[in-house]
Amino acid sequence: MAKIIVVGCGFAGLNFAKALKNSEYQITMIDKFNHHLFQPLLYQVATASISPGEIAYPVREVFAGAKNITTLMGEVTEFRPQNKRVVLANGETLDYDYLVIAIGARHSYFGHKEWETYAPGLKNISDALRIRDQVLISFEKAERVADPEKIKPFLTFVIIGGGPTGVEMSGAISEIAKTSLIKNFRHFDPAKARIILVEALPNILPVYPEKLSLRAKKDLEELGVEVWNNRKVTKIDERGVYVDDEFIETENIIWAAGNEAPQVLSTLKVEQDKARRIIVQPDLSIKEHPHIYVLGDCACCLGKDGKPLPGIAPTAIQQGQYLGRIFKSHRQNSHSLPFKYFDKGMMATIGKSKAVVVTGKLQFGGFMAWLAWSFIHIVYLIGFKNRIVVMLRWASIFFTGERGVRLIYREIDKVLKNIRS
Ligand SMILES: Cc1cc2nc3c(=O)[nH]c(=O)nc-3n(C[C@H](O)[C@H](O)[C@H](O)COP(=O)(O)OP(=O)(O)OC[C@H]3O[C@@H](n4cnc5c(N)ncnc54)[C@H](O)[C@@H]3O)c2cc1C
Repeated sequence: MAKIIVVGCGFAGLNFAKALKNSEYQITMIDKFNHHLFQPLLYQVATASISPGEIAYPVREVFAGAKNITTLMGEVTEFRPQNKRVVLANGETLDYDYLVIAIGARHSYFGHKEWETYAPGLKNISDALRIRDQVLISFEKAERVADPEKIKPFLTFVIIGGGPTGVEMSGAISEIAKTSLIKNFRHFDPAKARIILVEALPNILPVYPEKLSLRAKKDLEELGVEVWNNRKVTKIDERGVYVDDEFIETENIIWAAGNEAPQVLSTLKVEQDKARRIIVQPDLSIKEHPHIYVLGDCACCLGKDGKPLPGIAPTAIQQGQYLGRIFKSHRQNSHSLPFKYFDKGMMATIGKSKAVVVTGKLQFGGFMAWLAWSFIHIVYLIGFKNRIVVMLRWASIFFTGERGVRLIYREIDKVLKNIRS
């Protein structure tokens, strides 16, 4: 029985293993976390719309009925391709006949790792809960401060990066401030919060057709977001952020600007691109190590236009399914069946009732786009119960503006210690 190790239970790893449930392969799934996470809705956890459990699903449960699949929680810290072995953080080693690496991506701070302390990014549930705490605590702090100048850093939110995550975060934070919290505070007006979305390129959603980028900008501005195009972040510290040479004092900076593949991939000692992704063959294997496959966000796989495929869920899902089929039909390394990406389009949502969608020749925005966005996201969520609960939460936000998951986890006294009115 051939032994396969799959590192990463995200979209790519999960779809690969699902295709081989109860097959003749002996599969071990390894992940740092015990759950598969639906990252596209993570911003809704960070903005108190839904709970973490509604977008995360235990991997063990996914494979409960598959006797050939074992799940291990652990972080891979080294790949040893010469010995066909992986090393975990606790020193444990595991051997394989085939290795599938699908460990996704982390944020890139473009050489300024020190910014991460003040400008967290959004990749996993801890990130989302940290941001949610930060946003909600800021409003709690503002309630204690009477001085109109001193209150400003608590009510200023700067989101860096105008891609889908930045657009979604800024729209949702604006709605929290201007709708959900409107009657909740006595000493300040939450609607006075300032939400700034900073993008270095001339347009937000830069990979979308210009017409839709401009529409998204207009929709965000209607929600009260200031969209700063063509502006670059030059410094971030504990007091706030410099955008070009303008300083903005704020306690709330969210990083949504860049991605890079995890550092551990460099232990493979094979060719990587600028974003540290492993450059793969058309069948997703590595040239030097034909028994190793790399999928999803951590792979650099060229599309038919010769450009790397986008780091989005459909790429990861399709690659996982493709490789599952290859293994099922025992055609590993035959090179006769290269991976072919089917472009289903892209979508981003703006607040609770607008979105932009590109699919084939169709490009549209507004409420219909939001309905399409909602439908697709519900369909891809894992677990019937999660689908129902998320739909109910969205309906509640849509009709009442109420965000029910406004929970702060940190001990508030420690956080408020230095606040004086
Ligand atoms: C906030 C956000 C919003 C997004 N919105 C959209 C969207 O609207 N539409 C869209 O198509 N895409 C979206 N994406 C991108 C999409 O989620 C990714 O492209 C997709 O998740 C990639 O799948 P993957 O399997 O390659 O990696 P992931 O889904 O990231 O899974 C990687 C897995 O590997 C595990 N892992 C990492 N390192 C190790 C290690 N060393 N050892 C063990 N396990 C490890 C991680 O815990 C994780 O479970 C979004 C991403 C984010 C972060």
